[in-house]
Amino acid sequence: MKLKKPILGVDMDDVLADSYQQSLDWYERDFGIKYTKEELEGQYLGDVIAEDQIDIINSYFFTEGFFRTIKPIDGAIEGMRLLQEEYDVFIVTAAQQFPQCLTEKNEWLDEYMPFIDWQHRIFCGHKYFLDAKYLIDDHAYNFEYFKGSPILFSAPHNAGETRFFRVNNWEETLTYLNVTSKII
Ligand SMILES: [Mg+2]
Repeated sequence: MKLKKPILGVDMDDVLADSYQQSLDWYERDFGIKYTKEELEGQYLGDVIAEDQIDIINSYFFTEGFFRTIKPIDGAIEGMRLLQEEYDVFIVTAAQQFPQCLTEKNEWLDEYMPFIDWQHRIFCGHKYFLDAKYLIDDHAYNFEYFKGSPILFSAPHNAGETRFFRVNNWEETLTYLNVTSKII
């Protein structure tokens, strides 16, 4: 097999799948309190809620259906389709921390991004092994030993991060990666 396109790694939670919003939605369902991402800029939900609620929101990540029912981030599906034309696109996502999430993430990709085949789905822990030209991720710690070009995808919890190149949405991502001309 000959590699022709540059390798691009793409994280899943809070880049493709709106995991942060899923936590806000489940919290509202359970406690009747609605927070918005704008209100929580620079923070995690766990930073602002009552201490005795923290175990409950942490349990969401172990709950069947949490990862499977997350909504895609605006523009992510079409963005990934377009990126695939110019890049060798790999999903690179931590998936073994919560036992059920590996299966649910795989099913989520089958539903929303079936054009990403199984050979391009990397379910992993650390990401510093990755030898890619670019990595799109919302967690700055994934860039600390990354040798390619980091692309920090904005999420409420990374609002204060200034060390890495940032994109605020999928439109900016595609512009940076030079695939916007294909959007009609
Ligand atoms: Mg993430």
